[in-house]
This record gives sequence, C-alpha cells and structure tokens, in this order.
Amino acid sequence: MSKSPDSQRMEKIVSLCKRRGFIFQSSEIYGGLNGLWDYGPLGVELKRNLKNYWWRVTVHERDDVVGMDGSILTHPSVFKASGHVEGFSDLMVDCRLTGQRFRADQVPAQSGAIYSFNGARDVIPPESAFKILVRWAADLLPSAEKVSRKDSIRLALLVNDHRNFNLPKPDKAALSIYKFFVEFANKMSSQDDVSKNEADDFRQAYVSSPDASEDSIRLLRRKGENEGTIFKRAEAFYQLRKILMPLTSPPTPKNATNSREFNPENGAELTPPRPFNLMLETYLGAVADESSKAYLRPETAQAIFVQFKNILEVSRKKLPFGIAQIGKAFRNEINPRNFTFRSREFEQMELEYFCRAEQGMELLEYWKEERLKFYENIGIPRSKLHVLTVPDEERAFYSKGTYDIEYDFPFGRQELEGVAYRTDYDLSQHQKASGKSLEYFDEETKQRFIPHVVEPSAGVDRTVLALICEAYSEDQAPDEKGKMETRLVLRFHPRIAPVKCGVFPLLKNNPQLIAKAKEIVELLRPHMTVFYDESGAIGRRYRRQDEVGTPFCVTVDFETLGEKDAALRDTVTLRERDSMKQERVAINDLLGTLTSRIR
Ligand code: ATP
Repeated sequence: MSKSPDSQRMEKIVSLCKRRGFIFQSSEIYGGLNGLWDYGPLGVELKRNLKNYWWRVTVHERDDVVGMDGSILTHPSVFKASGHVEGFSDLMVDCRLTGQRFRADQVPAQSGAIYSFNGARDVIPPESAFKILVRWAADLLPSAEKVSRKDSIRLALLVNDHRNFNLPKPDKAALSIYKFFVEFANKMSSQDDVSKNEADDFRQAYVSSPDASEDSIRLLRRKGENEGTIFKRAEAFYQLRKILMPLTSPPTPKNATNSREFNPENGAELTPPRPFNLMLETYLGAVADESSKAYLRPETAQAIFVQFKNILEVSRKKLPFGIAQIGKAFRNEINPRNFTFRSREFEQMELEYFCRAEQGMELLEYWKEERLKFYENIGIPRSKLHVLTVPDEERAFYSKGTYDIEYDFPFGRQELEGVAYRTDYDLSQHQKASGKSLEYFDEETKQRFIPHVVEPSAGVDRTVLALICEAYSEDQAPDEKGKMETRLVLRFHPRIAPVKCGVFPLLKNNPQLIAKAKEIVELLRPHMTVFYDESGAIGRRYRRQDEVGTPFCVTVDFETLGEKDAALRDTVTLRERDSMKQERVAINDLLGTLTSRIR
C-alpha cells in the first residue's frame, strides 16, 4: 500500500531529525527504549529557545507571575491527595492474540465480519497415544533418533508404508490430518500382530481425549482480507494455548459495523477495558518497601500546589497571581507513538494562575487567548491551531471548563496544551490531607479562603515537534550553476531557531577573510548561537544552514576587505533564509540588525 503524503512527510521529518542531530532514539545502540528520546545538539537549542521564550513571556514580562522548580521525586501523599494514585489511569485493552496493549479510547471503529471460534482440539496425538505410536514405529527408526509429538505424522506415515495401508499422505490442513489418524487407528485395530488393547487405547486417546482448548476468540475479517488469514490467526491463537495443530469448527460469520472491540492491526478480539495507572514509582534509600516509595511526578503542577503557601509568603503577591514551572514529567504511557508526541518522559511548561472563584471563567478565556498568541509568536499560524471545548463528560469532575489547544500534525489534529479551570480542588485536597492551611488572606475584606486556579499546561516536546513539523518545507532554489534543485528548509521563526547565524569566509585558504569572519563570530557569540563554516562552496554552506533552519548567514568576501571598493570595506553579505535575499550590512550594524530580528 502506498503511503499517504502526510505519513511520507512525517517519515522525512523523523529522518531529518536524526540526520541533523535534533532528536535520537534513547539508548539507540542497545536497541532503544520505547517512548524515550534524546535531543541532539540542535534539538537541545530548539528546546531551550522554546522554554526560554515561554519563561520570558510568562514570568519575566509579567508582574503577576513568579517561578519555581520542584523536585521530580515526590512524596506519595501528594499524589494520594491529588487523586492520582486512585485515578490517574487510562482504560486499556489487550489484543487476545498478540498481547499488544492499546488505550481503549484510541482503538478505531472497524467494520467487517466476525468469526467466532469456540475452542479447538489438537489433531496431533496426545502424549499417551504418541507413546503407543512410537512403539509401533520403533523398528522403523534409526536407533539413536529422538522423536517428539511434532513427528507424529512422520511416524504414522512410516508405519503406513511398512504395513502397506496405502493411506494417502494428509495435506497440511488440520481436518486432513485428523481424518488420516482416524483411518490409521482403524487400520491398526485390524492388525493381527498388534495388541487389541493397545490399538483401542490409541484410538480412545486420539478420538475421545485429545489435547484441547475451550478458549474462544472472535476475529474480525476486514475488507480485503481473505478467509484463510482468519483461520491462520485462529490457529495461531490456539497454538499459543499449546495446541500443536488446532482443529476448529467452522464459524458462521456475523456482520459488525463500527466496532471498537478488535485490534486495528490484526482484527483479533480485544479484552474488556480495565484501568492502568500511568504513574512510575521508585524507592528511596536502602530498603525497597511501601514506606520508601516515591513517585516520579506525572505532571509538574502538584509541586506548585504543595508549595503554594511558601511562595505566597515569600513573593507577597496578591490575587490574582501565578506560579510557573518548567520540568520533566513521567507517564508510563500504554502506547508511546507518533515520534515524540506521546513519550514516557517529557517536559511540561505549566502555570497555575490563582484567583478568586468569581474570576475563574473569565481567566480561563483570557489564558486561552494568551496561549494562542504564544503559539503564533513562535511561528505556528492560527489557521493550524484549534480550540476544542472539552465536553462535560470528558472533563475532570472538579473542572468547570477546559480547552484543549490542538495543532494539525501530519498524523492528525492533536493536543498541544490543555487550559483548565481547576476550581479550588487541588489546594483544598492538599489542605485536607496535610492538615496545613493553604488559605489566602484578603487584607481588604479580611476574608480567608482557598483560591481557585486556572492552569495552562503545555508540553515542551509536543511543541518542539509541532515547530519542526510546521517549519519543514521543500522548495526550488538554484544550485551553484544556476540549475534549479529541491531545497530542504526548516522555516523556524528566528526567535526559536537553534542556530541564529551562520558565518562564512568566502574562501578557506585566505587568512584575511578567515580572520575577519572569526572576528564577527566573536562579536555575535555572546548574544546568539553562531555557526562558523569555511568548508565547501558558499551555496552548499547556505543549504546546510537552510536544512537546520538558520535564519541568517553572513559571508565575508573581498569587498569586506575593501579590495574592490573602499566604500564597502567592513561590510558583509547578510542572507535571509526564506527569501534568500542578500543585503550589504556594515559590520558595525550587524549585531543590532540581527538581535532585533531574533528576539
Ligand atoms: P493526552 O490526552 O494526549 O494523553 P493529557 O490531556 O493527558 O494528554 P495533560 O495531562 O493535560 O495531557 O498534560 C498537559 C500537556 O502535557 C499536554 O497537553 C501535552 O502537551 C503534555 N503531555 C501529556 N502527556 C504527554 C506525553 N505522554 N508525551 C508528551 N507530552 C505529553
């Protein structure tokens, strides 16, 4: 089947990420760990730029937000109080054939014909019959040969030949093998030199007490699949239950429409959904038991709630005000997938914005809009962002309103961030569980109360992935000889681009050009990431920078040295990535020009 343009695009993105050092699979040389990723030299810059910009607009550029950085390992009581120990779970289903696990809400609806198999018998003789068969065939076998039940057909065929039964060799189908053995038993009963009891025992064991499984399995035959595939899957199911060659009774197919009870990959029945807690745990200290248990936090938010009182006291903020945090979170996701989109270790950028109850709904709207602006400011167009109002039945019971901000990834529209009005649930829970007051005292009204909170919670890794997906593009540009070629370019917003400026001396064997270029590197480096490159033709060097999204490149040429025109001394060519336009800029103006464009 040919791949859709979107999945081809995604494959190209994943391969570029590895080739140019954005993202690698974790522990790759040992085969990798599912759902875990390492960021390479360019990936880490991109990620830092994103986090720094979030911090800048959320904390530094506001009067009403302060930051914190909490520990990852967390006291179990925190997650008991927050409800995570009881309820931070996904409903999961297992494939009854392969054991593959899926999140129940991610199983797609499928239609087709359901084949129900209600058990199987083995057509290979059970152990007791096999032993008799071995005795009958003993003289026909080479002396030292060891045989197992799997050799039963071969042994019976040797006897068949030796005694001239002339039974035709069975084909591979279980029914054919079954018929063969029944005939074979009949023939053996009529042999004068074979004990009657032994022949009866063989028949009895084979026909009446075979190895069998009563397990049933339903298999969905989807459009385009032939019936043989379904029988093969049923056979595999019973083989897993130790039935060497299963014989099943032919089922009567029934139609199914839009069913979510079958594995999307092989049509095998899924188990009923059951909850699976996503929290990862560990033990602190020398003894690993319940008393030393700690959790790796599944979200950063709880540390903020738990430190609310301390931070309130030291920052002396008045409502409404927020506490922001960026940090790692861990979830034992059932199906990590779509590259870094769903990982088991990831980073969150979370803000808990505390307020009075009556401000909650209004601030929910405010933060939704602020967050949309944020994404636009890092280069994700509004047209690719979507706001989903989470319906009542899917919202956490304590939330009075939740929005998901979604982005059109190549693999579909998916959540980047949740903006939730969590009421006073978290602080109330921690106050109750810890016995410590987490109230706010309003000096004007002299009231004490537990503040409400609005939480914009964004994923760093998902946003990095969205930035890469959004930036990835191919266009046509002339090569060295003016011939058009495909140019791969990451159109990152300069603000988040991992490298801001490439600096090139025109020739690598000219000490004056090199010295000047290095001076420029030193000039820019304290203010931005710079990449110095002297190898290859200038066009190639531009392409290499285009491919990693460097928005500006500076070339030092003979004009810079004043060799052609004294007026051009100490000017350089500044080339912009997207338009490929080049302008002449004085070295003195370079820093100002660039910093204004990358901030
Ligand atoms: P999903 O429904 O996709 O599992 P969620 O609604 O459980 O996500 P939240 O608990 O609201 O996610 O977490 C806030 C943000 O943290 C998400 O919007 C996402 O950006 C990020 N996030 C959550 N889980 C993961 C993960 N497994 N991998 C990467 N980022 C994640």
